[in-house]
Amino acid sequence: MCNPTAEAVHARLRASLGKFLPEEKLLELIPAAQKYPFAISGYWADVMREGDPLWRQCVPDTRELTASPAGESIDPLAEDRFSPLPGLIHRYPDRVLVLAAMQCAGYCRFCTRRRLVGRAGMQAASPGDVFVYLGAHTEVRDVLLSGGDPMTLPIAELRHWLETLKRLPQLALIRIGTRLPSFAPAAISEELCASLAPFAPLYVNTHFNHPAEITTEAQAACARMRRAGLILANQSVLLCGVNDDAAILRRLGYALLGMGVRPYYLHTMDRITGTAHFRVPLARAAEIWDALAATTSGMAIPRLMLDLPGGGGKMQYMASRLLSRQNAEKEIRYIFRNIENGESVYIESPEMEA
Ligand code: SF4
Repeated sequence: MCNPTAEAVHARLRASLGKFLPEEKLLELIPAAQKYPFAISGYWADVMREGDPLWRQCVPDTRELTASPAGESIDPLAEDRFSPLPGLIHRYPDRVLVLAAMQCAGYCRFCTRRRLVGRAGMQAASPGDVFVYLGAHTEVRDVLLSGGDPMTLPIAELRHWLETLKRLPQLALIRIGTRLPSFAPAAISEELCASLAPFAPLYVNTHFNHPAEITTEAQAACARMRRAGLILANQSVLLCGVNDDAAILRRLGYALLGMGVRPYYLHTMDRITGTAHFRVPLARAAEIWDALAATTSGMAIPRLMLDLPGGGGKMQYMASRLLSRQNAEKEIRYIFRNIENGESVYIESPEMEA
């Protein structure tokens, strides 16, 4: 894996951000944009304003280069350990995650897979290999096509994935995870939706983090998907400075419901290298979620999720899972009972609680 050249990154920064920032500011962003994948869709570059919640999600930040606090990792969920073949992650008995594409329409600065997506030479899963693997693992009931963003694949390739998976009678559920309805809603074309319609029931997990992303264009994209029979739910990430506020999440939840998308998960941030400035301390995340739950229709409340580091597994964040919390000079250690009833340690830097 090699990073793009400074010249290539500079040209991309200038194309996306040149209308907002002077040249010396663009130059400051080159190292972060070189180290981690950088692209902003033309649509987002038109919609966002300097410093707004969309900007903060996709514009490189020099804080991405600061030394990693305790517990950060470029693969915090140990996905590589659970990957028996390229692009397939088999962490839970009945589910697999398939990295069907290694590119996105834009790159989130907090992406859990920034070690893989948007980088030259990274191998996505192959439908044939996944078919053979699942044929030997009939306990798998649920496949999530993700990446990267599978909706950015050519339509014929995405259809080929679905045709391949539909040949596996054991599967009860096929899902697609996509940020395209937010990043580039026009790309959710009638043609794309019509080509997915025959695979019903097909579940699509969108990724909207802030109500400002729910534009007329995004609403139209979701309407096209709904008319094609796709079943829509949304996963958000709780991000400091973007949506770490119950009122914002309430507006987001109702805006999602207004376009027929059920709020599903609100993920606490994984401890990914270079993303400390996005993380909301767990205690505060719980407070925000409680405030949301106290004042919002149940239909508009996503589940607050925590993916335990080191492959401890994803679980709903709840007090009954927290076994202890230990304050030390340089870190706070949360001990959780994980989904296998073992113990997983989640480390937080104490300054985050300030
Ligand atoms: S759209 Fe998803 S996979 Fe792509 S950069 Fe954002 S979080 Fe990562």
